Order: sequence, then structure tokens, then C-alpha cells
Amino acid sequence: MWPCARCGRPITLAMKWDVGHILDRALGGSDDLTNTRPEHSRCNQAAGGQRGAAITNARRAATNPRALPPARDRGIRGI
Ligand SMILES: [Zn+2]
Repeated sequence: MWPCARCGRPITLAMKWDVGHILDRALGGSDDLTNTRPEHSRCNQAAGGQRGAAITNARRAATNPRALPPARDRGIRGI
């Protein structure tokens, strides 16, 4: 049993888990053992979704100066 690298709670064999990356693959991180760690699937996917959205928003802002900033920067809560 290992602790989840994201939430710190135990990962048991009955739970779904993923190989998480310390430096995200989208940012050039490798699949090497030095860059990976066990994470609950749910924790891994939630973090991946947030990183993916940040990358997508940054690309949109870079190519479209009129793109809206992220919702949290516009004072919108709960997103
Ligand atoms: Zn977790």
C-alpha cells in the first residue's frame, strides 16, 4: 500500500490508480521511474484536467489577444 502523491491517502489494491508524472508529459516530462509516482486515478485525472485547461487557455491567449482570461481571474467562483 502506497500513499497517493496528490492527496496523501492510501492506495489499496482494490482502488483504481494511475502512474502520475512529477513533470507533466505535456511539458516534456518522461515516463522514467524518476519522474513517475502512484496516484489515485481520480486525483490524477483531476490534476491532468486542470493542467490541460491551463495549457489550452495559455495557447488561446497567445494566439488570440482578445481571448478571455481564466474564469478565476474574472472573479467567477465555483469553476
Ligand atoms: Zn489521491
